[in-house]
Amino acid sequence: MMERSVIEVGYDTFLEMIDNDQVQQVAYSESSGEFVFIAKDEESGNSHVYKTGVWPDDGQRLLEQLRDHPDIQFAAEIPTQSSPLLSFILTWVLPIAIFFLIGEVFYRWMAKKMGNQIPGGMGNAMSFGKSGAKIYVADAKTGVRFDDVAGQDEAKDALKEVVDFLHEPKKYADIGAKLPKGVLLVGPPGTGKTMLAKAVAGEAGVPFFSISGSEFVEMFVGMGAAKVRDLFKQANEKAPCIVFIDEIDAIGQKRNNSGIGGNDEREQTLNQLLAEMDGFDGQKGVVMLAATNRPESLDPALLRPGRFDRRVPVELPDLEGRKAILRVHAKDVRLEDTIDFDVIARATAGASGAELANIINEAALRAVREGRKNVRQEDLEESVETVIAGAQRKNAVISDNEKKIVSYHEIGHALVAAMQSHSAPVTKITIVPRTSGALGYTMQVDEGERVLMSKTEILNKIATLTGGRSAEELIFGKENMTTGASNDIEQATKLARALITRYGMTEEFDMVALETVQNQYLGGDTSLACASDTASKVDARVVEIVRSAHEKAYGILKENEEKLHQLAAYLLEKETITGEEFMDILNRS
Ligand code: ADP
Ligand code: ZN
Repeated sequence: MMERSVIEVGYDTFLEMIDNDQVQQVAYSESSGEFVFIAKDEESGNSHVYKTGVWPDDGQRLLEQLRDHPDIQFAAEIPTQSSPLLSFILTWVLPIAIFFLIGEVFYRWMAKKMGNQIPGGMGNAMSFGKSGAKIYVADAKTGVRFDDVAGQDEAKDALKEVVDFLHEPKKYADIGAKLPKGVLLVGPPGTGKTMLAKAVAGEAGVPFFSISGSEFVEMFVGMGAAKVRDLFKQANEKAPCIVFIDEIDAIGQKRNNSGIGGNDEREQTLNQLLAEMDGFDGQKGVVMLAATNRPESLDPALLRPGRFDRRVPVELPDLEGRKAILRVHAKDVRLEDTIDFDVIARATAGASGAELANIINEAALRAVREGRKNVRQEDLEESVETVIAGAQRKNAVISDNEKKIVSYHEIGHALVAAMQSHSAPVTKITIVPRTSGALGYTMQVDEGERVLMSKTEILNKIATLTGGRSAEELIFGKENMTTGASNDIEQATKLARALITRYGMTEEFDMVALETVQNQYLGGDTSLACASDTASKVDARVVEIVRSAHEKAYGILKENEEKLHQLAAYLLEKETITGEEFMDILNRS
């Protein structure tokens, strides 16, 4: 006897098959409450035994249909002995499959919970494969565009090339130009890194995959590497496209060479990521973007050429940037005519784009709470306090007094540099806090590349470095000096020491190497190569050099105190000024 396996179908399918004239015999088993029937397979035409368990409509419809199909036989009994294969499947395969299914459902649920946030209204998000990466089908209408990201002009400029490449990969391929495979967006949280990455996809009209580094490692062991593989597979199929890895430091941390206390899972994931990045063809149009606020913690292997070899800073917004962000987010909010964003922007130095967006929203909520139809200035002012205090981030927002001190400090550097010959020209001065933790900085850029430095230049540089503290002393009094000069002090000391011990530029020690560089590639640590007696003489000389540079800087500033006031006031007002603006005011009589 031929053994027959039974295929279970739904009641509706059963009725449908009757309508399709597939059913040949039907039997009803009172004990099990099931219908067992024989029907032809639509495609192959072979007969199979089927069963269906539910009989929801009291059989009225079934009876009618059977009446309409008089050719169907009512059989008393149909053999339903199951095949050995079927019983094997039922007893072994099915339970295991169910077990895995539950696991998979649980896994997806976990992946969801672990915060793949889907920002509202930004393309259609759907979960993609096992990578859990979200793919946003970039839609020219709903996608994020560069215009949605306020400020951040430098970052946008740097990313425009990537957009162009995605538009016309062929143009680049024809010439043989290779665009960076990976671009690292570096900046504090909430400055718009994710937005920028989406905007690149939006501008280029390509799909956008996004996944957070932490999702790779929070999963079960062995999942991370598999996810990376899957992510790249999907991306390759969808090329050209953008793959965005948020918080890449979660997987990209420096690997631990000691082998103790290492995180195998993370290293495996990182290794897989490196391998995949090396493996994919840059010309195909897969561009990796990654974001981090801790670039110094990244494994150097990630930053090598062919990987994330391009770095785009995404810093906290300056005054103009903050105004622009406030305006962008207030676009859809009803405001009273008297709103002055300038006041709000000034009160929020150090706030991120996300915090500014939140300020607008809190203000709107406050207006609603008070039953008004428009947002007032006082709503905004009130929400500055809630958001900034609510964030409770130390140093997040700088007080007016601190801003003033930082302004004088930075102008101090710039003025001392400008008043000495042989100093690199000042190109930019800012009191917007940087990712590095600096509260402000003065950028000097040499024309052309410098390989050699003269003794005068080194001494001038040391004086410039002491200029910040000198300005604080001159304006606020010696007893009010701040800790803000710590980095300057470190650099000045290093330079002065190198002048003596490595560059042989003093009478006293002539051209004797008193220090040797340990490892040029690992931070250039030096080690002493002289008697302790000599070392203390060197120390004394270092103090002498720094002190005289400090005195010189103080003198320069005292002579130009009027300019110092003017420039500091201007910087305080603008927060970021260019070298030209600086020179303009300096040369004004
Ligand atoms: P990051 O990825 O740098 O942490 P996001 O891109 O996620 O920051 O920004 C969070 C939110 O903050 C954005 O959704 C947006 O509402 C707001 N935001 C941040 N920067 C800007 C900006 N430059 N212009 C407009 N909105 C911004
Ligand atoms: Zn300084």
